Amino acid sequence: MTPTIAMTIFVIGTVIWFIIRIPARRRSRRAAVKKTARGLREKAVMAISSIGLGIVPYAYIISNFESARFRFLDFAERPFLPALAWLGAIVFAASLWLFYRTHKDLGHNWSVSLDIREKHKLITNGVYTLVRHPMYSAFWLWAIAQALLLPNWVAGFAGIVGFGTLFFGRIGEEERLMCDAFGEEYRAYMRRTSRVLPGVY
Ligand code: SAH
Repeated sequence: MTPTIAMTIFVIGTVIWFIIRIPARRRSRRAAVKKTARGLREKAVMAISSIGLGIVPYAYIISNFESARFRFLDFAERPFLPALAWLGAIVFAASLWLFYRTHKDLGHNWSVSLDIREKHKLITNGVYTLVRHPMYSAFWLWAIAQALLLPNWVAGFAGIVGFGTLFFGRIGEEERLMCDAFGEEYRAYMRRTSRVLPGVY
């Protein structure tokens, strides 16, 4: 394992991530929205998350090309540890599997933001059995994999900061929206599940 291989794994992981999302995007365009909680704060936290999980690590990786004429975040380089990078590859693979499963289980109920659709169904099976936000668990795993794969304090941890902002800025609003839409059914689901890590949180 070398830094170049680790960065390549990160890029491949993010590309697979986008490919997994293509059918979900198509499906969600067909299902009409009944109610939405998209607001200014949602827009802001989604932008911050994309910067942390995408723009910062990609700018860092591009600046590491032999031919690059600039060095981005040079001051924050950390030693490259192959064992950490291997662990990062495993965590990213787990994240992709979970991300794939959440899209399968959510089906047409998925949204990139906070929407309730016509014929929205509450999903409580599959990877939704023990945690009610497994897609966000998958995003946390991506953010952790990023910190393990990229040997730079800022580019590595930008994912945790960026997605953490989205997660904590959105989660309360999302659960309120789901309680409004599904009432006691969602409250009972909340009582028997964790948010992202079974039995812990
Ligand atoms: N927070 C979930 C879903 C993320 S996608 C997860 O991490 O897995 C966001 C959309 O999914 C929102 O529009 C929300 O209304 C919807 N949603 C969240 N949980 C759901 C569930 N258990 N069943 C159906 N739709 C859900």
